Amino acid sequence: MRALLDLVLPAGCAGCGEPGGPACPRCLRALSAPASWTRPDPAPPGLPAVAAIARYDGAVRGLLLAYKEHGSVSLARPLGAALARSLVLVMSVLAGAGPVVVVPVPSSGRQCRRRGADVVADLAAWAARELPAAGRRVQVVRALRHVRAVADSAGLDARARAANAVGAIGLRRAAAPYVAGRPVVIVDDLVTTGVSLAEAARALRAASATVIGAATIAATGRRGTGPTRDRRELGGTGIRSPAAQLHGRALRC
Ligand SMILES: [Zn+2]
Repeated sequence: MRALLDLVLPAGCAGCGEPGGPACPRCLRALSAPASWTRPDPAPPGLPAVAAIARYDGAVRGLLLAYKEHGSVSLARPLGAALARSLVLVMSVLAGAGPVVVVPVPSSGRQCRRRGADVVADLAAWAARELPAAGRRVQVVRALRHVRAVADSAGLDARARAANAVGAIGLRRAAAPYVAGRPVVIVDDLVTTGVSLAEAARALRAASATVIGAATIAATGRRGTGPTRDRRELGGTGIRSPAAQLHGRALRC
């Protein structure tokens, strides 16, 4: 019905439908909440600490869908700013304020073709622009790619769902020098079961990255606690020069 109304009425706010699209001030405020830790329950093996800004419902769900599926590109900036605050929380576990590598969860080829862009990498790039103002530096590296399609996991329990995804994501060969031995934060727009984040973390750890955590905008799961690892373990890792071809700039599929 909503899709039908969109055809015959001027577009309203993507969050609440009121006049004043693409987003009214009230719905944009839903993206301004402080970041907090979240955890799917059950969490898949290997899932790092996950931060999010909001629950995936109401206005936030509407704004994310408008951006991802309906091409509301003007929402990139507020969504990127929300992701940036989530990143700052994850990076707060580091002892120092040194540079961190940000790796987007890759979109599948099918998602990319349908949307015309890798929207998670886009959001990572927008988030990175906000971070110098927060005293943080990050380097966005599109280090991961889908290696194979994941079989339908409907009906599987959490552990089987996670096992089903193992090996679905791999490292782009050229990215290895930019993640090995470096502190890495994975980013995605949304955390649901945590399987994609856990699989991205597995691929990065296999490339000798130090996965600090994952930053997201919205979570369907319950609120949870932060990382339990010793903070000293994560501090003091430097980052050298970037590889331009891997930056979050060339965001087309
Ligand atoms: Zn609204």
